[in-house]
Amino acid sequence: MELIEYAFGKIGSFLYNTYYLNLHQTAVGFAIYLCLVLAVFAVELFYVEYGKSGFRRVFFERSKSTITDIVFFVLQTTGMIALFAALSSLGLSYFIMESANNLAHLDLGNRLPGWAHVMLFLVLSDFLSYWQHRVMHWSPALWRLHEFHHAAEEFNALTAHREHPLEKAINMVVLIIPALVIGLPTSDFSLVMIAFGAVGFVKHSAIPWHGWFGTYVIQSARDHSVHHSKLCEHHNRNFANYFPIWDHLFGTYYEGDVTSIQLGLDRTYFNKTDPLRETIATQIRFVGRACKSVRTHVEQFRQQIGLDLSGRR
Ligand SMILES: [Zn+2]
Ligand SMILES: [Zn+2]
Repeated sequence: MELIEYAFGKIGSFLYNTYYLNLHQTAVGFAIYLCLVLAVFAVELFYVEYGKSGFRRVFFERSKSTITDIVFFVLQTTGMIALFAALSSLGLSYFIMESANNLAHLDLGNRLPGWAHVMLFLVLSDFLSYWQHRVMHWSPALWRLHEFHHAAEEFNALTAHREHPLEKAINMVVLIIPALVIGLPTSDFSLVMIAFGAVGFVKHSAIPWHGWFGTYVIQSARDHSVHHSKLCEHHNRNFANYFPIWDHLFGTYYEGDVTSIQLGLDRTYFNKTDPLRETIATQIRFVGRACKSVRTHVEQFRQQIGLDLSGRR
């Protein structure tokens, strides 16, 4: 009973802080993301015809897949996803974040010039994101969460924020590492961080920028669409978040030609009902897969050590 009261107290204080005390900040954050998305739509319309644009898909002809993208864009940019992340991890992500605040911060980046600090933070966090992304594809249990992002059947800038709340919780926990080791960049560099935040929107657009910049510096929409492709030869390729250099270094860059790509998954259980129901179903599938995986590992361990718990001799 006390635990329930405690949880409701925390939820109440989150809502009070985010939407009352810091309403102005929350609104400004949402407005910045909205402006970035609109800017990406405008650039996209410059390059591709209206019929192929994300602008048409979001504002005029919304599929179930795009409606999910819109819902998750709003959840992410209004801060509500943090609450969903805490709830979907049964408060675990919240406790890890809170505990991390009380740990000793090394803050090694503070000794560097500001620009070097911000670049180091981006490189380190992107390196961790690359490996986290690979693990999300490698582990059958974690794939149950990540497939929610891959279930997008068409791209628009907002698809960047289509992310299961529990995957968001994992991202937040992973990002504690660079925050503790080198420290968060100061607010002087918030524009740089926002600009990198916009990379996600460009990656999920139809903007055809590629060339050497897209191949080696910042992942292009072309290369990210390969990552979302249904084609077998595209699977497990182009994992980078910002910097494709990780894919080149670790052998996951797709070197082949890219022509037409069909996005999405062959399974049919996404984009059928509503985003909330599908999010809960994804979480149930994750728990089911995780339990099965634990049982399999326990069984393998028993066999390895020759332990028979069945009672037979
Ligand atoms: Zn992926
Ligand atoms: Zn994506």
